[in-house]
Amino acid sequence: MKVGVLGLQGDVREHVRALEAAGAVTAVVKRRDQLADVDALVLPGGESTTIGKLLDRYELLEPLRERAAGGMPLYGTCAGAILMARDVTGPHDAPHRLGVMDMTVRRNGYGRQLDSFEADLGIDGLEDSFRAVFIRPPVIEGTGPDVEVLAEVDGQAVLVRQGHLLASTFHPEMTPDARVHAMFVRMISQRES
Ligand code: GLN
Repeated sequence: MKVGVLGLQGDVREHVRALEAAGAVTAVVKRRDQLADVDALVLPGGESTTIGKLLDRYELLEPLRERAAGGMPLYGTCAGAILMARDVTGPHDAPHRLGVMDMTVRRNGYGRQLDSFEADLGIDGLEDSFRAVFIRPPVIEGTGPDVEVLAEVDGQAVLVRQGHLLASTFHPEMTPDARVHAMFVRMISQRES
């Protein structure tokens, strides 16, 4: 099993480190032929407009949608979660999205005062709390019936799962704790067994 990290922009190296700490073999994906070689993919945070444009320019949008529709596990963090969302509301759109996950997000939805913050999360399936770093995160405003909410901050979903798709509005690659990446690696192994 090989887990790819989309390498167009953002915390690519940090995700590689966290996935390897969780026991995965990794590869950085920037081109279509590299996508064909991985069994799952992490979409890092960064700037969703930029990453979307690059996905479009490198002709990765359609192949990625096809792989996701065919069951390839995807994990999007922050901007990556925005790219996975079916709908985006609010003043900032994110064109060139994958739109594969049944949720609505609002970019930079916490407003200026709460631009960036940290929180201790209780995450379903993890015993101890997880220190989560949020950087200009989107707000998940709504989720479809097949989406499970695995963690919340003040009643607002911040980690969600829909079958083989996982998305968080925080950055687990920014702390040394690899348990969320390990959760994703387990999701991949479960699909393969
Ligand atoms: N604010 C960014 C966006 O809307 C996301 C920030 C992040 O990925 N940390 O694309």
